[in-house]
Amino acid sequence: MNKIGILGAGESGIGAAILAKEKGFEVWVSDAGLIAPQYKSVLESEGIPFEENKHTLEKLFEADIIMKSPGIPEKAEVIKVLRKRDKKIVSEIEFAYSYTGAKIIAVTGSNGKTTTASLIFHLLSKAGVNVGLGGNIGKSFAWQVARNPMPLYVLEISSFQLDDIESFRPDIAVLTNITEDHLDRYDYKLKNYATSKFGICRFQTEKDIFIWNTDDPITKEELSFQPSMGIQKTFSIQDPLADIFSSSGNLIMQNEKYDFLTMQITGKHNEANTMAAILAVRAYGLSPEEIQKHLPSFQAIEHRLEKVATVNGVLFINDSKATNVDAAWYALECMTQPVIWIAGGVDKGNDYTSLISFAEEKVKALIILGPYKEKLESAFEDKVPKISYASDMKEAIMIAKTLSRSGDCVLLSPCCASFDLFKNYEDRGKQFKENVKNLI
Ligand code: ADP
Repeated sequence: MNKIGILGAGESGIGAAILAKEKGFEVWVSDAGLIAPQYKSVLESEGIPFEENKHTLEKLFEADIIMKSPGIPEKAEVIKVLRKRDKKIVSEIEFAYSYTGAKIIAVTGSNGKTTTASLIFHLLSKAGVNVGLGGNIGKSFAWQVARNPMPLYVLEISSFQLDDIESFRPDIAVLTNITEDHLDRYDYKLKNYATSKFGICRFQTEKDIFIWNTDDPITKEELSFQPSMGIQKTFSIQDPLADIFSSSGNLIMQNEKYDFLTMQITGKHNEANTMAAILAVRAYGLSPEEIQKHLPSFQAIEHRLEKVATVNGVLFINDSKATNVDAAWYALECMTQPVIWIAGGVDKGNDYTSLISFAEEKVKALIILGPYKEKLESAFEDKVPKISYASDMKEAIMIAKTLSRSGDCVLLSPCCASFDLFKNYEDRGKQFKENVKNLI
């Protein structure tokens, strides 16, 4: 019996463990930290052996193959040791891919993955296509393959999931954009991160489709180093030479025209996401009529420019998922009212320069949330009329309430990771919403 060692017992690890068990592997799950109770109970009920708070190397050495969860960095000691031994290490995406013949539409990028993948899924399922949605969103790809077999999957894929692939070949690949993010995992080199993102089309053939954003200089440059074999389809918010581009609220593709203004999502970034989704579902075979019919029913996703409430004329917007500078740029870009901007958290090597002109033009006050104040403070101290400091979300909302006047908006768009004060970005967004609701 083949043996597999699974490193990490989160969503990917559990999915891979279940799939491996179904495929007849002897499975061993090992997590350096505590395993979350919901995952532990799955392992117990599936009868899959595991350990937590340690990696027993002898057990891992016995494995024929190792599945590494995307959260584990290459520099982790256990990976270094296993690499030294020349162990075969694959990602969960690669592992799951080897057990399905389903068609795959895969979406990656620094920002817009969830929105674009969800919109593709929405349009396909509304048109009656039998399709699953997974990967970085909802259930892992491996779990889907084991427990929800489908003829077609839409997968949201992060760069970490694209490290350690060796044959993963989506029929339709979407790369939304590449901007600085997660550089801590890529030796602070944008090039390494871009190379990883290009894993999405690395194994494509001339039968496949590769959808990319011509407004993005980094993607453009990387394409000259790693040409894609797939048929290229492009989108742009400004360039009429792209296969689809936007003009005054219309998304135009040859003789097809889609009305973005009928949608519930707003902002230039969402025009870009929508164009990428349209290219994907057109390539799959949906008709323009089917697409336009179902664009308006697509709803904004929680924590992405989510309008929470208007209190005394002040609109509160939760964009907690804006964990990098580019996402915050698009949030500030589409603000039409004076902004009380709540930002801060764990800085991932951010450069705030691109936000300065929006800050000067639109931000009335910046509320820096959390202990890491210095970098934000020095970037914006002479750029915004006022900077305040909050040690938790409750305080941030109280300060925002005091500083705001009817007609303003309070925007949580932190440009940073959330691990200083919160469990994750969802927890940060939920706390924002709860504290806003307490004002009503
Ligand atoms: P991801 O899954 O890649 O993190 P999301 O769709 O969840 O992307 O959006 C994450 C954040 O980025 C949100 O703040 C959202 O408003 C912003 N965003 C969404 N699409 C884009 C885009 N195409 N370019 C820049 N920012 C975007």
